[in-house]
Amino acid sequence: MLLTEFAGNAELKYELGENMKRGTLPHAIIIEGAAGTGKRTLADIIAQYCVCRADSGRPCGVCNGCMKAQKKIHPDIFYADGEKKELSVDSIRNIRSEAYIKPNEAPMKVYILSNCEKMLVSAQNAFLKVLEEPPKNVQFIMTVKSASSMLQTVRSRSRIFSLYPAGVGNAVKIAEKRFPNKDIDEIRHIAEICDGNIGMTLQMIESGGEEARKLAEDIFLAATQSTEYALLTLTGRLAADRNFAVNVLDCMTEIAADCMKAAAGVKVSSHTANDTAERYSKKRIAETAENIRYARKILNTNVNLNLFCTWLSSVLRT
Ligand SMILES: [Zn+2]
Repeated sequence: MLLTEFAGNAELKYELGENMKRGTLPHAIIIEGAAGTGKRTLADIIAQYCVCRADSGRPCGVCNGCMKAQKKIHPDIFYADGEKKELSVDSIRNIRSEAYIKPNEAPMKVYILSNCEKMLVSAQNAFLKVLEEPPKNVQFIMTVKSASSMLQTVRSRSRIFSLYPAGVGNAVKIAEKRFPNKDIDEIRHIAEICDGNIGMTLQMIESGGEEARKLAEDIFLAATQSTEYALLTLTGRLAADRNFAVNVLDCMTEIAADCMKAAAGVKVSSHTANDTAERYSKKRIAETAENIRYARKILNTNVNLNLFCTWLSSVLRT
């Protein structure tokens, strides 16, 4: 990604862009912001700038250096993650001694230290030494939820860039691209819940998607194999949240479509669909698909979710 493609945070982008144009990037940068605001993405953009081989317009995004940076295989970009316990005093001492060695192929060496809130005071003090006498051609980038969790002495030797959620509009735009089959109103709803935080929006759609898929499959299997009570318990889980219920019904629509294909002798990858196609008659599969389609439609109305769950359970039962 290039700086211009980074969503929101206009002031920060302007300042960083000017620094890049003039070649006046501070040698130590702290990027602070809540989870999902794009700290690592921004760190990657700066790292790419540092190793880019283009004469102007860095990072170009297409040179050998940029490509390696994008694939995270550049020999002059080093990653250390506090979450993975890679920011201990010993690790910092290693970084400190290696930082004075010349880069392999890029004009600069880059150290990306992420999740610095996990960096103990002793490690920060060890790091301070390298900040006090910064080696030539080395760029340090630290990411942290809040810069206040870092020592004042470290902060005062770094430039702090603060990231904010990119906004609902941006979050919707990006989520729409990532999940082209997802209903736009649902995406907007989730982006609003997440206050326009892109990372959080994407994660919520993703995790909701997985959970919904699992429940949709369980409902299908219970409809043909389990007791009425088991099926009612499963459909009952839809009552908790209308958006979740919509996700589950969308997954059930896909599974039903696969069932129809499987029943018609077309090979499908879904075990649930294959299994159901074996147990249901073609007529019954068509009826079920129609019931699911109807169920999905009435979810758009003001239907009482508890009644909906009971009704769905009864129409799915063989
Ligand atoms: Zn480049």
